Amino acid sequence: IFSAVPLAPRDPILGLTEAFNADPNPAKVNLGVGVYQDATGKLPLLECVRLAEQRLAENPKPRGYLPIDGLPGYVAAVRELVFGADSPVLRRTITVQALGGTGALKIGADFLRRTAPEATVLISNPSWENHEALFTRAGFSVGTYRYYDEQAKGVDFDGMIADLAAAPAGTVVVLHACCHNPTGYDLTADQWATVLDTVRAGGLVPFLDMAYQGFSESLEADGAVVRQFAESGIAMLVATSFSKSLSLYGERIGALSLVCADADEAARVLSQDKIVVRTNYSNPPTHGAQLATTVLTDPELRALWVDELGGMRDRIKAMRHRLVAGLEAAGITDMGFIATQVGMFSYSGLTKDQMVALREQHGVYGTDKGRICVAALNDNNVDYVCRAIAAVRGA
Ligand code: PMP
Repeated sequence: IFSAVPLAPRDPILGLTEAFNADPNPAKVNLGVGVYQDATGKLPLLECVRLAEQRLAENPKPRGYLPIDGLPGYVAAVRELVFGADSPVLRRTITVQALGGTGALKIGADFLRRTAPEATVLISNPSWENHEALFTRAGFSVGTYRYYDEQAKGVDFDGMIADLAAAPAGTVVVLHACCHNPTGYDLTADQWATVLDTVRAGGLVPFLDMAYQGFSESLEADGAVVRQFAESGIAMLVATSFSKSLSLYGERIGALSLVCADADEAARVLSQDKIVVRTNYSNPPTHGAQLATTVLTDPELRALWVDELGGMRDRIKAMRHRLVAGLEAAGITDMGFIATQVGMFSYSGLTKDQMVALREQHGVYGTDKGRICVAALNDNNVDYVCRAIAAVRGA
C-alpha cells in the first residue's frame, strides 16, 4: 500500500533551518524562522508563564479529559480577550480551544467545508504558506486577493478591494488581523473600514487570523479590527494563537471563535465544531490551556504578561530601527520601509539571488522571497546582518 507513495517536497522554512544547522560559519544568523527570540538570541520563557507553571505545580491536579470544546475557563477568557469583556457579541459567539492558531484554522476550514461546500477561499498574495496548503487540504479551491505592492513597498489597497469586490457571495476571505505574515504591512483603520464595507456588501465570510495579537501596538489596539468586524453583525470566524504572545509554541494553544447571528445559531454551530474536534483528536490537551487561563485570569500575572508582551514588541521595533540605521551607515538608504512594517517579519525587498548570496556567502538565512524575521535580530548579530545585506546589494 505504501510502495507508490511519492516523496513530498520539504517544508521550505524547516529546510532553511536544516541548512542553517549544517552551516559551519560561526557568524551565521537564522532569520528564516517564525519565532521570537530575546536580546540574547534565545526563545524566552515568559516570567508570567513561569509563575503560572509554578502555581499549577504547587496544586497538581489529575489529568482527565477536557470537554470537546476545551477548558471552560480558557474558552471564556479567550472570548473576552478577543471580543472584550462587555462585548454585545459574546452571547452569540462560541469559542473552541484549538491546537495553536493552525489548529484553529483547520477546525474552521473543516467546519466551513461541510457547511458551505461550494465556497472558495481567498487568501492574501502573498500569505503565510500554510494558509493555502491547509485550506486546499480541507477541500477548498484557494485563490488570492492582491495585497503586496512591490513597487510601492506597501499594500496594493485598490487591488485588494477590487479583488474582494469581485468575489462571489459566500467566498471565505482569510484576513491577517494584524502583523501581516510575511510582508509586515498592515492596513490602516480607514482601510479596514473599507474592507469591512466591501465584505458586507459582497456577502463574503471573513476568517480573521490573529496569530500576533499584541505585537503591533497593544492587545487592545490589535484586537480592534476583530471587534469592529464582530460588532458589524456579520457572521465571521477568528483564529487566535498564543504561540507567539505567550511564547508557548510547543504547547499548541489557540482558539477558534465563531460570531453567529444569535444564540440559537451559535449553539448549532458549536455542536458541529465539536464533531470536527471529536473526529480528529477527540478533545484538546490540558497543560497549555491551564497555563494560558492562569495568566489571562489572574490580575497580577495578566499585568505581567501585558508588560512582557510590550517588551517583546518594543525590542522588535528597536531592532527594525537598528537595522535601518545600520543599513544606512553601510550605504543602503532605500530600506527605511523596514521601520514602518510591524510584527515579527519583514519583506526586505531583496531578490531571490540576493537571498541566496546572503545564505551562501554570509550565512544569513531568510526565505527566497526575501522574508526575514526581525524578531531574531539582536545587538550581537544586527551589524553583521547589515554588512551582509550591504555586500549582496553591492553597496
Ligand atoms: N497564522 C499565521 C499568519 C502565522 O504566521 C502562524 C504562525 N507562523 C500561524 C497562523 C500558526 O500559529 P501556531 O503556531 O499557533 O499554529
